Amino acid sequence: APVSIVCIGMAGSGKTTFMQRLVSHLYTHPDPTSSTPAVSKTPAAPPYILNLDPAVHHVPFQPNIDIRDSVNYKEVMKQFNLGPNGGILTSLNLFATKIDQVIGLLEKRTAPPEPTPVPEQSTADFMAGKSTPPPAQKPAVKHILVDTPGQIEVFVWSASGEILLSSLASTFPTVIAYIIDTPRTTSTSTFMSNMLYACSILYKTKLPMILVFNKTDAQDATFAKEWMTDFEAFQAALNSEENNPETLGGGSGYMSSLLNSMSLVLDEFYKHLSVVGVSAMTGDGMDEFFTSVEGKKQEFLRDYKPELERRQ
Ligand code: GDP
Ligand code: MG
Repeated sequence: APVSIVCIGMAGSGKTTFMQRLVSHLYTHPDPTSSTPAVSKTPAAPPYILNLDPAVHHVPFQPNIDIRDSVNYKEVMKQFNLGPNGGILTSLNLFATKIDQVIGLLEKRTAPPEPTPVPEQSTADFMAGKSTPPPAQKPAVKHILVDTPGQIEVFVWSASGEILLSSLASTFPTVIAYIIDTPRTTSTSTFMSNMLYACSILYKTKLPMILVFNKTDAQDATFAKEWMTDFEAFQAALNSEENNPETLGGGSGYMSSLLNSMSLVLDEFYKHLSVVGVSAMTGDGMDEFFTSVEGKKQEFLRDYKPELERRQ
């Protein structure tokens, strides 16, 4: 069965670049969980791509379904006299009314290809001993990739965002890839804010989540993994920020004691996540990401799907 990967993250975290990297990795790796690229005889299965960001100017890949084809964001803003956020929300609402058609298309492209009848051979060819080559078939799609608007709250907290996500999740195993701008998350307070945001998305969407620390070419993500697994390492970082007058992070006693308590609470949240460091720019860590996707897909089928069906 295919899996759908929904990329969510703050504007500038690298969602679109990451999407582009996922696409190129899937085109060149028959087994995306391995770093071994394709040799010419084993074609990889191309993904199916959905762009749900109505406000994006340029996408560096070719989406199969693009919200911009069915709604004109600029027109929507003008016609309904809306600002940017209202425009995005209304565009999502309009698109959500077509979700059944979208799911129908997805189901068609992810079904195993029907055996196409071999065309009848002409007598002349038969006599000449020529065999008719079977018609080329498109391989079934194994990955559905979804790009979302940078205004996370518009997508995650709107009725239409919920309709889009729950329609996807009731048809395919669905995982959230939460993209994080690693170089901008190195202080304890920005790190904690980002984790709380991810936590709220996890509880709102009730879907398995992978934390993707992006831009490891610019900033190694080891510190983040350490903070998530070793409370004392986070504690030590807090203390050193507190003793450094230049950091805005830890700061006052109030802030550090709050961060302190929160990190204990978040410990439980961290246990439910997969964490990977990647560089959308260089392609580093993509095999590890797809290994996490496989794990989360199994988790979806085992834990989330029964719960989803119970709620319906
Ligand atoms: P989005 O707003 O989340 O879709 O982010 P974009 O994909 O548009 O990327 C925002 C900026 O981050 C762009 O300038 C990208 O070139 C840059 N960027 C994205 N991924 C990486 C990465 O892996 N490494 C580095 N160094 N820059 C990146
Ligand atoms: Mg983008």
